[in-house]
Formats: sequence, structure tokens, C-alpha cells
Amino acid sequence: MQGIKKKRPFRHRSAFLVDLSSRTVKRHAVCAILSAMPNRSSLAQHTPSEARSCSLAEQSQVRAALDWLDRNLDWITNEQVRLTEIPAPSFREEKRAEAVKALLRAEGLLTRSDKLGNVVAEIHGETDQEIVLLAAHLDTVFPAGTEIKVKREGDRLLAPGISDNGTGLAGLIAVTRALRSAGIQPRRTILVAANVGEEGEGNLRGMRAIIDEYRGRIRAVIVLDGSGIDHVTTKALASRRLEVVINGPGGHSWSDFGVVNPIDALVRGAVRFINTRVPVTPRTSYNLGQIEGGTSVNSIPYEARLKVDLRSESEAEIDRLEAALRECMAAGVKDETENARERGRGKLEWRMNLLGSRPGGELAPDSALLAALRVADECVGNQSRPERSSTDANVPLAMGLDAIAMGAGGVGGGAHSLQEWYEPAGREVGLKRVLLTLLGISGLAGQKSP
Ligand SMILES: [Zn+2]
Repeated sequence: MQGIKKKRPFRHRSAFLVDLSSRTVKRHAVCAILSAMPNRSSLAQHTPSEARSCSLAEQSQVRAALDWLDRNLDWITNEQVRLTEIPAPSFREEKRAEAVKALLRAEGLLTRSDKLGNVVAEIHGETDQEIVLLAAHLDTVFPAGTEIKVKREGDRLLAPGISDNGTGLAGLIAVTRALRSAGIQPRRTILVAANVGEEGEGNLRGMRAIIDEYRGRIRAVIVLDGSGIDHVTTKALASRRLEVVINGPGGHSWSDFGVVNPIDALVRGAVRFINTRVPVTPRTSYNLGQIEGGTSVNSIPYEARLKVDLRSESEAEIDRLEAALRECMAAGVKDETENARERGRGKLEWRMNLLGSRPGGELAPDSALLAALRVADECVGNQSRPERSSTDANVPLAMGLDAIAMGAGGVGGGAHSLQEWYEPAGREVGLKRVLLTLLGISGLAGQKSP
């Protein structure tokens, strides 16, 4: 996941954790608790969809799958630790992918890797013509060589990548295992995928390839990313990463003084750009993130580079900012050229490269997937707010497919930092929420379309 602050969800909710494996008696008790909670008046009324879903949770096979999650929490956490300790920087995910593949194969699933390194397994439904994709990204933002050893401090696990996306991967394996151990056959085929290339310059390449391959059959996509269950990503934050490259003749700082200087041109252009106004609504941001160039303090550089990240709730604003960056850089190059004392000696050339582009999009509020999530939330006694974020769900959302990204339970923080941490307490709620959302949208074999 990119650029999301991980907040602590409502810890107190875990006190009411619904034991979905138990009988109706307990369910009534839970409903009583829920209706007694403040600001939950709408939840006190049992909508038809809730009745339908909690009846899903009460079916014996589903109950067995939910029970499996309760009984195997230590195993799930141990697998999370093991997978997290296998380094997987973007573009170097293969070792972790092998470990995930072995876990899926152990479930008796036909599991394969595609040419990018995505690991894909199928839980066949009554129909293979309709697919629900459950995915978690394998990669981390931490470069090769980063020490990754999970430390335990009380209930807390600390390691780079432990939550993003150790939690998502552990959730993927756990939910798959729970379904298999309960012998559940879905109505629509469930495609389980551990995908490459979500972070940074991975640019969602793994998810793009999977959607491309199964295009036409995918009915819904559920992305497991990180931990928290207080939100659900239903809106894709669009972003674009650009690189400006300016080249010139170079020279000696003293004897060639007055020749056009690419760094000077870049600075002139960058100063113009950062004076560009961005709207508060739709929320829009830019970041000059990396600047490079030159070879020594007493050389006129022959090259200067600038990397810029643009984000917005509106793609039109990103287009506008990209145009502004182009205009400002052209003006910077022009200023430098016109002001150079030695105008005849060499000239500047410049270009702008697209490093990555994440499309935007939104889940329709009346989608069946969102309804399934809402019902699952009700069943586990959770409430979650819709959010906009940049995740693998951007790819299907931008294509008009139903998709969400959700946390896989527990609490985490410090994503993308060396201080990243995770606490598994209460993770069963998140895992049950995932499992019920998944089955809510895939349906069960022998039953009518959800
Ligand atoms: Zn992530």
C-alpha cells in the first residue's frame, strides 16, 4: 500500500468479537450488544442482506472455516513471520513467491507462476466462467540487503514489511486454508494470487498482468493489504511519476563559465513549478522527490535529473499538473539558454519520461461487492469507513471492475519504515471479515447467485 497512514482501529470492539462459529443464541447476544452501542442505530435494524449473510456464517461448512481461523491463529502468525523474513524487494520477489507457492500447493491446489512471477492458484467453483480474485502483494519497499529479522516485544512484532504486506500474505494463506479445510466449494471460482510489483516502481505490474490474463471473467477483486479493519479502500487514488532529464555540453567551472548549465536550468524550472497552485478539493499533491546530476563541484554538469510524484482525487488535476511541469521545465531551459553568456557554445536538450502511472477509479456504492463487505462487517461487529488509497485495487477499479482493498486484521503501523510493527491481537475478526466478504461475493456451490 502506498501513502496511507495506518491508524489504530477501535480496539474496544475486539471485546465484542463475534464468535461466528457459535449458535444463534450467541448471535442474539451480539445483536443486543451492537444495538446498545452508541451511534449504531442503523445497525440495530436487521436488513435483509444481513439476515442473508449471517445465515451464510451459520452454514455448517462456513462455520467450520471460521472455526479453523480461531483455532490456528498461532500458526498464521508464525507463517507471517517466516514469509516476512524472506526478502522481497519489488522486482526480486522470487524467493518469497516460492514459499507462498509451496503453502498453496500443500492445500492441494493447482498452483503456478506466470512469467512476471505472480503465484496463482484456483479454488474451482461450479463455474469457471466467473472469477473472484483474492490477492495480496509479495513485494516490499525495502531494498535488497535490508536486514529483516522479526523481533518480538511482548505482543508486538517488529520488522520491515511485517504488516505491509506480511499481514496480507498471511491472510491470503489463512483464508485459503480455512476454505480448504472446511471443504468449501464456491459457486464462482476463487483465484488466489500472491502478486509481484505493487510498491513504487513496480507500478502495479503484477496486478495488471493478472487482470489482463483473466479479463472478461473477473466479477470482483479483493486485495489484502496491511492490517487495519477500520477502513475499506473503495476509491483508487490516481498518481503519476515523472522524470525530467536535462542534458548540456558540460565543461570546466572556470574556463567554460557562461556555458548553459543543466542544473541551473533544472533549478529555474523547478522553482517555477513549485509555485504552481494545487486545489484543496479535489485533494491534490506533488512531490519533488529526487534530484540528481553533476560529477564534481568544479565541473559544469552535462546532466541533471528530477523525479516528481503527482497525486490527485481527480485525474484532470494530474493532467493539469503534468502540463504545468512540462511548461515550467521548458521555461527553465529557455531562461538558462537566454541568460547564458556563452550562448553559441552548445545547447540544452531536455525530455520528460513517464516512470509510472496509477489510474484512478471508484467502486459503485450499490455494487454487490460493497454489499458483501457491509454484511461481513455486520457479522463480525465491525464498522469501516470507505477510503481512497493507492493499491493494487487501482487497476480493476480503473477498468470499471468491482474491487476493494482491505486489511487482513490485527493492528499495524510504521509502514515503509524500518520501525514497522504489527500486533496480531484480534486478527481473527479481520480474517473472518475477509472470508465472509469473499464467500458473500463468490457464493457457495449449489446456491443461487449472490
Ligand atoms: Zn502494501
